[in-house]
Amino acid sequence: MSVRVVARIRPLLENELDKDVIVRGDSVDPSKPNTIVKIPNPKNEAEEFSFAFNGVYDMSTSQETLFTSEVAPYLKPLFQGIDVTLFAYGVTGTGKTHTMRGGLKLAERGVIPRLLSGVFRRGKKIMKDSQGETTVQVALSYYEIYNDKVFDLLEPLDKRTPTGLPLRAEASGRTVVVGLSERSCEDLKDFEKLYIEANNNRITASTKLNAHSSRSHAILRVKLTQTTGNMVQESTASAIDLAGSEDNRRTDNGKERLVESAAINKSLFVLSQCIDAISRGDKRIPYRESKMTRILSLGQNKGITVMILNLAPLRSYHLDTLSSLNVSSRAKRIEVREIENEVVFKQVPRANSNLSGLAASRQALR
Ligand code: ADP
Ligand code: MG
Repeated sequence: MSVRVVARIRPLLENELDKDVIVRGDSVDPSKPNTIVKIPNPKNEAEEFSFAFNGVYDMSTSQETLFTSEVAPYLKPLFQGIDVTLFAYGVTGTGKTHTMRGGLKLAERGVIPRLLSGVFRRGKKIMKDSQGETTVQVALSYYEIYNDKVFDLLEPLDKRTPTGLPLRAEASGRTVVVGLSERSCEDLKDFEKLYIEANNNRITASTKLNAHSSRSHAILRVKLTQTTGNMVQESTASAIDLAGSEDNRRTDNGKERLVESAAINKSLFVLSQCIDAISRGDKRIPYRESKMTRILSLGQNKGITVMILNLAPLRSYHLDTLSSLNVSSRAKRIEVREIENEVVFKQVPRANSNLSGLAASRQALR
């Protein structure tokens, strides 16, 4: 199991051009690509915090560059039978949906349509090269987890169970969503039709549940089945647009919101613990602690996980940005602190190491 955690800083939007930019990418060595995110200490602006990642993509990064660098390399392993899981993590408004889904224009298309395009292209090539001996089938599932309940996005609204779909642990150890639909997909056109329809479903459903899409996790699963004679190989690529990671206690205090917040906080917290445990090489991954990580069996296979932390460079996001940097930076152990541009990287022992990462980062912000 391997995990990569990268950060992507979104550009300023048209109505933000006069705003203060406080987040930037940097490199340890000017000849190397960026791997560090810098942000001022809110308590002392003369001081800057640095967070290390496996890669940092600045404001000018195109959709194509991000895909080519962080997703395309895993198409081959996917076809070799290895599961690939892609997450977009971050505060609402930082570019998660843009990164995953993107816009309709070709250049603006996000990771998901590009992934599918790559899958179909490779699948066709394999079938052609094997002269029809190998068949490649692609099937999609698309669901969201809202308040720890699973809703099928490929089902029309009126067919949905309000209590959500149940989970079942299989003998193999995998967790399945009981009754989740699966649609087979022949080509990119097929996929796009299904995907647009399902996304519309998501929006309508969200309004009915009195929630915004940023309050749920949307998970697209692409199942790849390759058959040669009686040999069948299955692998899945999952792309997840996570619920907003903003400090949910600060936002609202309605009862409904509190229930939502508790569910979001818990699942994101478990996710970050799983990512930490995987990147440390731990044997025990706490994936059973939330539905999302359970369904993904995170850390239970040989899979590859890429977490993209989306960041907005604006001051108005300062505290939330710091908190999400703390949670997703694998570098809690190698967190570096730079004071007034003097290049001193030093190991900072983790304060409150008995606290969870999230709690510790929140404490640090007090
Ligand atoms: P989130 O899903 O995290 O709430 P969105 O993806 O909806 O955030 O992005 C918020 C806004 O910023 C949208 O208008 C989106 O089009 C824009 N945006 C995000 N990332 C980029 C980017 N890399 N380039 C251009 N616009 C972006
Ligand atoms: Mg979104």
